[in-house]
Amino acid sequence: RTEITTPLSLVEDDQVEPSLRPQRLAEFIGQRKVCDALQISVEAALARREPLDHVLFHGPPGLGKTTLASLMARELGVNIKTTSGPVLEKPADLVGILTNQREGDILFIDEIHRLRPIIEEFLYPAMEDWQVDIRLSDGPRAQTMTMKIERFTLIGATTRFGLLTAPMRARFGIVQRLHFYPPDELATIVRRSADILGVDTTQEGAEELARRARGTPRVANRLLRRVRDYAEVRADGRIDRDVARAALELLDVDEYGLDEMDTRVLRALIETFEGGPVGLNSLAVALGEDTATLEEVYEPFLIQEGYLMRTPRGRAATAKAYRRLGFTPPPGASD
Ligand code: ADP
Repeated sequence: RTEITTPLSLVEDDQVEPSLRPQRLAEFIGQRKVCDALQISVEAALARREPLDHVLFHGPPGLGKTTLASLMARELGVNIKTTSGPVLEKPADLVGILTNQREGDILFIDEIHRLRPIIEEFLYPAMEDWQVDIRLSDGPRAQTMTMKIERFTLIGATTRFGLLTAPMRARFGIVQRLHFYPPDELATIVRRSADILGVDTTQEGAEELARRARGTPRVANRLLRRVRDYAEVRADGRIDRDVARAALELLDVDEYGLDEMDTRVLRALIETFEGGPVGLNSLAVALGEDTATLEEVYEPFLIQEGYLMRTPRGRAATAKAYRRLGFTPPPGASD
C-alpha cells in the first residue's frame, strides 16, 4: 500500500530527497531547541579539537534525523559513513569502516534499535575505549585480536527509543528527540523545496500543503511534488490555494492530514472496541497491521493531534476522534 501521506520513505522520494536536504545547520528549519543544542556541542568539540560525543536522535520517521546526521558531519568537517541496524549481520561488516575512519569521523546507524546483540557487543568497546575485538578464526577455540581505532562519533537514529537496550542508551552523551513540525514551519519547508525544484508557489498554497502533511517534512515534500504535477497539467503551473485544494482532493488527502489508515485505526477503536481502552496487539490484529508499524508510524501522529490516547490499560479514542468520524462521543470520552 503506497499512501501518499505515509511518513515512511517511498522509492519516489529517494531520487528527490537528497537535493532537498538542507546543506547547513542554519538552513535546517524548525526543531529550534535541538539545533541550538547541537550547534553548541559542535562548537565545543571543534574548540577542544575532540570528536563530538556520540549522538542519538529519536522520533517518528521523516522528521530529519538522517538530515541532521549529515549536517553534523558537514559542520564538523568530517566524513560520514551510513549504515542501518538491519543490514549489519556480523561484526566483520563494521570492522572495515571502523578501522578506516579518521579521528572525529561519523558512523551513522539508522534504525539502531534493530542491531543484533552480537553487533551491539562489538560496538561497546569501540564507542568507549576506541578498540575492536576481531575474531581471527571460527569455532570454540577461536583467537581474537584487539585493535585500536581512531576516536569517532557514532550517531544513531531510531523511531523506537523504548526498544533500545539500556547499555546502548547509556553510551550516548547527546540524546535529542525530534518533534512533529507545526504548520508554519512546514510551510517554510515547502516554500524552500519549491524554490529548489523551481515551482511557483504562493504562501497560501504552501500553507494548504503544510496543513495536511502530518507534521512531517518528508510528507510535505512529497505532496509538493504531486501537486506540482497537477498544477502543470491542469493549471498554469503555479500552486496557489485553489490549485492546492483541488489537487489534494483529487489525491484523496484529508483536510486534517488523516490518511486512510489513520481513519481505519480510529474506526476500529470506536466501532470494534467501543472506544477502548484496548491493547495494542488486539488493535493491530483487528487492522491486519503489525504492532510495530502501528506504534511507530500511525500512533504518534494520532496522539499528537489528540485523537488517540495511550492509557495504562491500552489505547483509547478521544471525544475528538468520535466527532471527527461523525459519531457522538460517549459521556465518558475524554478530550
Ligand atoms: P528521518 O531520517 O527522520 O526519517 P530525513 O532526514 O530522511 O528523516 O528527512 C526526510 C526528508 O525531509 C528529507 O528530504 C529532508 O531533506 C526533509 N527534511 C527533514 N527535516 C527538514 C527540515 N527541518 N528542513 C527542511 N527539510 C527537511
